[in-house]
Amino acid sequence: MSIRIEENKLLAPLTTLGVGGTARFFVRAETEADVVEAVEHARKNGLGLFVLGGGSNVLVSDDGFDGLVLQIAIRGITGGNASVNERAHDTEGTVIAAAGEDWDEFVRYCVSEDLAGVECLSGIPGSVGGTPVQNVGAYGHEVSETIVSVRCLDRGSGEIVTLSNADCGFSYRTSIFNTTERDRYIVLSATFRLTRGGAAKIAYPELEREMAGREGSLKAVREAVLRLRRRKSMVIEEDDPNSRSAGSFFKNPVVSYDKLDEIRESFENVPFFVFGDRVKIPAAWLIEKSGFAKGFEHGNAGISANHTLAIVNRGNATAAEIVELKEMIQARVAETFAIDLHPEPVFIGF
Ligand code: NAP
Repeated sequence: MSIRIEENKLLAPLTTLGVGGTARFFVRAETEADVVEAVEHARKNGLGLFVLGGGSNVLVSDDGFDGLVLQIAIRGITGGNASVNERAHDTEGTVIAAAGEDWDEFVRYCVSEDLAGVECLSGIPGSVGGTPVQNVGAYGHEVSETIVSVRCLDRGSGEIVTLSNADCGFSYRTSIFNTTERDRYIVLSATFRLTRGGAAKIAYPELEREMAGREGSLKAVREAVLRLRRRKSMVIEEDDPNSRSAGSFFKNPVVSYDKLDEIRESFENVPFFVFGDRVKIPAAWLIEKSGFAKGFEHGNAGISANHTLAIVNRGNATAAEIVELKEMIQARVAETFAIDLHPEPVFIGF
């Protein structure tokens, strides 16, 4: 056996929220072979398996996880620079990134290589492997626009397979990986097709305002997005206690126009965005109008002082406190608007 199996590994430090207990068994996989071996080990020993990436979108229970936690730590980025010389006239830039690469490092690399397509996704915490799962997006861009294929281990067959973009069934913050085929595939790497020398796409007014008077290079857009996210404490930084979170804790609900009209009977200036034949209402607005302000405290848990959508660990919070606060928010929003808010993070060991 080449994998090293640790026992009673504390999971809190491996997550951005920093709460929760231990994993009974833990494996850090640095190669695809490690992943295959760990999955086989779990299967043979009848252990539950949880696949951990950057830990930026998870809440671990205080009791931890009574199975094997497999951390995907496969590194490597290929493409980009190599193709500059080899295909000088090719405007396409194909880059393959291993699942364990830090997402923002990957974005930084693409921007430095003058490859357009992911610059608006700067500063999003987590690993490359997590991005197709959620179809991560920001400021009007989604990874599904640039992902060509995703290489995965199929836990059902034990085979390594390559899924095309269409196979992944991407939609708003979803894919087959977190819906119909949840728990079936483990992402090993993703292939992106970026545009060499392409223009940055500035779709949202918030970003447009931040870019006003500046030249629209990829680097400038990346910096603007980082500034916007930092202001909301959505860039994970040691010295920013408001960033000790799992990012947005709730999904933005999509409701009918009838529902929007109903809300407008009691509230003025309801913010909304057209979403097909329905509308998306910012969850942060619903939470504020239900009586929670930025900086709200509940024991050692709280709401970020800089973004109503982030639940933060104010220091030594337990998972139970985080869950209590989540339930308080859900109950008040349901009472006020008759809307159910759904959490975005994945819950481990509950
Ligand atoms: P925000 O900008 O306050 O926006 C809140 C909600 O309003 C989001 O659902 C966003 O839609 C929507 N919205 C805002 N401006 C819009 C426009 N001009 N047209 C259409 N929809 C608009 O959100 P935030 O929390 O500060 O986050 C900034 C960006 O990062 C957002 O795009 C957010 O979705 C993204 N983000 C993504 C993830 C993830 O992928 N897991 C996690 C955290 C934040 P969209 O969601 O469609 O952008």
